[in-house]
Amino acid sequence: MNEQENQPERLDLQPGPTPGSRPDPQGDPLQIPADPSQMTSRRPSFADTYRSVQTANEEDVVEDPEERPTTAFVVVDAQNDFSEGGSLAVDGAIAAYRATHMHLAGRAGKYSVLVTTRDNHIDPGSHWSDEPDYVDSWPRHCAAGEPGSEIHPEMVRALDYFALTNPQAVRIDVTKGEFEAAYSGFEGKTEAGVSLADALRAAEVTHLEVVGVATDHCVRATVLDALREGFEVTVHVNQIAAVDADRGAAALREMADAGAEV
Ligand SMILES: [Zn+2]
Repeated sequence: MNEQENQPERLDLQPGPTPGSRPDPQGDPLQIPADPSQMTSRRPSFADTYRSVQTANEEDVVEDPEERPTTAFVVVDAQNDFSEGGSLAVDGAIAAYRATHMHLAGRAGKYSVLVTTRDNHIDPGSHWSDEPDYVDSWPRHCAAGEPGSEIHPEMVRALDYFALTNPQAVRIDVTKGEFEAAYSGFEGKTEAGVSLADALRAAEVTHLEVVGVATDHCVRATVLDALREGFEVTVHVNQIAAVDADRGAAALREMADAGAEV
């Protein structure tokens, strides 16, 4: 016997936004009306949400494999030292993070995976220099365990929003550059030592949407590696910032020529 085609509609909906409850993009998207049963004295921390995502099993994520999104949202090096006020500040970085927050409002659910990459230097050799050329050598930045290596608070807000509105998404965090320069997120590994490419394939990702800094360095390298690895790539040009405007424009042309949608 064939299974009945019209299955009863599933009602085990997860708490979260419905099409009619899109947060007002003019307001603070984090001000989601709280479910009284979930009211606490504080907003859930990102760590709380992160842990709950990590403990969700695959069956929780996949209700209908045909409907499952296969796109990862990739946040490149949105770290304090690369942002205004940091040791290697990129002009426009914070504006890019705010644009990401607005982009995610109402759209976070289209992504099955959220990726962050971080520069995480311990002893990166000549990548750090007291007399940097800002092409191959740089001021000391993103030292492992120091505040400069943490994700900037404006991007943390965007990531918190993502976690609250799409708690089923898989989170992949990679660090890179411990003992050498590492511009591409694909040089990074998770805490468990899994490469970014392997982690994305394990999550059945086929398409990456990339944001972050810097356009002419780590965004460029990450996008070009992603294309080489066989992923489709979209770069959100309003959510990136370059160290140098001319090099940034050239990098965008290079990414487009290599097959990225920019
Ligand atoms: Zn670096």
